[in-house]
Amino acid sequence: MKLNTLIPLCLLAIAAIIIARNPKEEPLLDSHVTTAEEQAKLTPDEVLKQFKDGNQRFHAGKETRRNHSEQVRKSAPGQFPKAMVLSCLDSRVPVEDVFDQGIGDVFVGRVAGNFVNEDLLGSMEFACKVAGAKMILVMGHQHCGAIKGAIDDVKLGNITAMLAKIKPAVAASQGFEGEKKPTNTEFVKRVAVNNVKNTLGQIREKSPILKEMEEKGQIKIVGAFYRLTDGTLEFIE
Ligand SMILES: [Zn+2]
Repeated sequence: MKLNTLIPLCLLAIAAIIIARNPKEEPLLDSHVTTAEEQAKLTPDEVLKQFKDGNQRFHAGKETRRNHSEQVRKSAPGQFPKAMVLSCLDSRVPVEDVFDQGIGDVFVGRVAGNFVNEDLLGSMEFACKVAGAKMILVMGHQHCGAIKGAIDDVKLGNITAMLAKIKPAVAASQGFEGEKKPTNTEFVKRVAVNNVKNTLGQIREKSPILKEMEEKGQIKIVGAFYRLTDGTLEFIE
């Protein structure tokens, strides 16, 4: 073979090797699952920070790219979640995504209006006392239909009894200056925030187990308001 044929062939071969090695500069998929050791080491403050950081990634469109099938396989033998999130039913609030968490990272309790009853309190006690979660986060959200229904005094089937659980937050918001109607976004927000505060109070009042864990610094109990319009959170003290 002549030299002027050999050189282009060699160059072609080198290019093929380079392309095969770096098909695209895609980041590796994360397949990590929280272990018992990692869960035990985490402090409630670190968990809160992780969730706040995760929300910033979600808001910025920089979520972790995860290998879910691998996470399913790895998490099957046991779970060691970092937190329990109580969210509304709303389809626009994807809990794991909002905090950029993976399979096995979060216990999620959901009910329209994110209030607690005996069953949810039992679930929270299981999450923290039995399964080692370090934080309870109660998350209300913007434009919540359940909150609007409670303000509007909707009566329909079992929804009536459900909305009654949110009514104390409506009563607590009567000092609001402005129109106290479901069409007033600011008033709906005020009620949603008060509803989260009521839920936090109920957890401490009705679960001596969780109250004690909080007092001993073993868990954190926090509230947040999720904005549908931009995917961010406001933390509620
Ligand atoms: Zn809602």
